[in-house]
Amino acid sequence: MNGQVKSTLDLVPSLAARLKDRIAHEGPISVQAYMEACLTDARGGYYATRQPIGSSGDFITAPEISQIFGELIGAWTIAVWQAMGAPSSLVIAELGPGRGTLMADAMRVFKTVPGLSDRANIAFIETSSVLREAQRRALQKSPLHLIWCERLEDVPPGPLIVLANEFIDALPVRQLLRVQGAWYERAVGLDAKGGFVFCAGAAIENDALPPALRTIPAEDGAIAETRPGATALLETLAARAMTAPVAALFIDYGHTSSGFGDTLQAVRGHRFADPLASPGEADLTAHADFAALKEAGQGLGLAVYGPMPQGEFLLRLGLESRLQRLCLNAHPEEKDMLISGAARLADPRQMGVLFKALALQSSGLAPPPPFGEI
Ligand code: SAH
Repeated sequence: MNGQVKSTLDLVPSLAARLKDRIAHEGPISVQAYMEACLTDARGGYYATRQPIGSSGDFITAPEISQIFGELIGAWTIAVWQAMGAPSSLVIAELGPGRGTLMADAMRVFKTVPGLSDRANIAFIETSSVLREAQRRALQKSPLHLIWCERLEDVPPGPLIVLANEFIDALPVRQLLRVQGAWYERAVGLDAKGGFVFCAGAAIENDALPPALRTIPAEDGAIAETRPGATALLETLAARAMTAPVAALFIDYGHTSSGFGDTLQAVRGHRFADPLASPGEADLTAHADFAALKEAGQGLGLAVYGPMPQGEFLLRLGLESRLQRLCLNAHPEEKDMLISGAARLADPRQMGVLFKALALQSSGLAPPPPFGEI
């Protein structure tokens, strides 16, 4: 990098410096606002500035571990499209597609189904320009028409299938903190030395608590989490379901019953880090609350299936037979990688139980696989 460019970059304050300035002027900011800035700030946000996924990045995801993941989700998509009556127009939207690997693997399956591959459009919902470019490269030979949208609301109307792996966990959480019998916004302020510190922000009403937690006694220091972005997403799906068939598959790590606890975590270089240590430089996520998603989806009139542990979900979709097929033609080294990759996705001690699948769709459609077989 030449000296002139470097000195120009030096003039741009870091995200940490801008957040400190903001807190010094406005007072503590909510955890939700902090997480949002860390992930998506246009100049210093984590996703806006880097390619985080893979062995050279900060974390690895299921599609990057095994091609079978995307292939099985491709097969799931076809089954759901058929359950919709195989509509001639379809948008397959992926939320937060990362490097585009899931869709590239699913595409091999889509190509085998003429009625689908001739007519479906793929819509990628992605904030990061770096990752949009990676997605474009991964799908450059796609026979399906590709578009990129900022938000799910911008996807063209009509029948819709939404896929989202490790997307919910990246949506900012709102945290509520119990202090001396009352609830406060959990916020990020500055300590005496000017470093970031968690603190209590504005007082809030009890009805801001997730309904499932309102009746559980909360001790001092208890933390409750809600995810306004996830609720808004389900509202968008439910609104679309009024005019055309809609189905969505969310796979993420998280819990099946709501409870108190702080699940905000930072990961940098495949290791846990302090969420306040380096804003914008570590991946910040928080557990998906599947109980809350399920309840919100049902409340909006959607049919909800799951959550089902990822291992069970993939095995029921045919993980083993797909693995065997791939192993037939593989070299010994490839075979070892295929087997260890599949095990990592399905083994309860690895990703098989912590990760879960939740499907939501318009009421009146046949249950999606593999839920219909239960
Ligand atoms: N699904 C991919 C990537 C998961 S990482 C995989 O499994 O490998 C999270 C992804 O969501 C990234 O692509 C990130 O840029 C994107 N993302 C995060 N917040 C977003 C938002 N608010 N809107 C759209 N995309 C977002």
